[in-house]
Amino acid sequence: MDEEYFDFKEFEESEECLDFENTKNCPHCGSRIPENSLLCLYCGQGAKKGSSPAWIKITAVVLIFIFVLFAFYLLIGYI
Ligand SMILES: [Zn+2]
Repeated sequence: MDEEYFDFKEFEESEECLDFENTKNCPHCGSRIPENSLLCLYCGQGAKKGSSPAWIKITAVVLIFIFVLFAFYLLIGYI
């Protein structure tokens, strides 16, 4: 009798990986996610607190700086 069977052991192990008893808010989308999950189940972002990499902030600042410079350049050009 070699019928296909549902691998309960594997299923239970995968369930135990996530602690649904203790949940926290995703820092990105605010959804309730397991305390020990590394990634948000809903938005897929990293769920570590303050995990937003420094390069994202630097890139944002640089982009804003370039945008301001560009706007300033256009403003002067039209005067
Ligand atoms: Zn999220």
